[in-house]
Amino acid sequence: MITLNIDGYELKAEKGQTILQVARENGIDIPALCYHEALEPYGACRLCIVEISKGGRSRIVASCLYPAEDGLEVKTSSPKVIENRKTILELLLAKCSKNKVIRELACQMGIEQSRFKPEYQEDEDCIVCGLCVRVCEQVVGVSAISLVSRGTSKHPAPPFHEPAAMCIGCGSCYYVCPTGAIKMEERGDRRIIHNWKVEFKLKKCQVCGNYWAPEQQLDYIAKKWNLPQGFFDICPNCK
Ligand code: SF4
Repeated sequence: MITLNIDGYELKAEKGQTILQVARENGIDIPALCYHEALEPYGACRLCIVEISKGGRSRIVASCLYPAEDGLEVKTSSPKVIENRKTILELLLAKCSKNKVIRELACQMGIEQSRFKPEYQEDEDCIVCGLCVRVCEQVVGVSAISLVSRGTSKHPAPPFHEPAAMCIGCGSCYYVCPTGAIKMEERGDRRIIHNWKVEFKLKKCQVCGNYWAPEQQLDYIAKKWNLPQGFFDICPNCK
């Protein structure tokens, strides 16, 4: 067991846990947009920065990546952390000036306007946190999309910006996106994911008649788990 101090509280942690995990487990809020407990931490948004001190030296680190250590002192909202976090939010606001999530976070920190002017496309929703790409690879196991291009042009996309041939329409990328950047809709018996230029036929439940999941996704699961034919003819609600 490790003992560290976060915001004045002496807390216990397991070896291998990050500062963010320990803080959240103990009800200490640290903002983070690119973190998801089911995925490997990535440190993209940098909102989760904290100030750590050990042996008389202090520095700013991303709490989603930094491991809990014995004797570590952590401050989640010191003046230095707040100043840096505000700058990060201003940069996000410059890129996604109309996004509700970013605006609300900025507002909570007292930021109405960004000092920075974007030199690229304005009014985006994507903060390039990579959650969509990571969930597709690490949880779904498909890797239908990736982060393409560099610097300020970096963004998630299917190979060659063509319709995502590997996509099974599961929608995990849509559900995990923290800023609503992925546009997915269902129209009748179809699911459309606009960002990846794909459309899927939905399976109809033989009992209630509702369309409940993309046929392609169900075929993928059935094959992966060697399920018998007709396993998905009835939706989970009717089973
Ligand atoms: S909908 Fe497509 S791109 Fe999104 S996670 Fe599922 S397989 Fe990947």
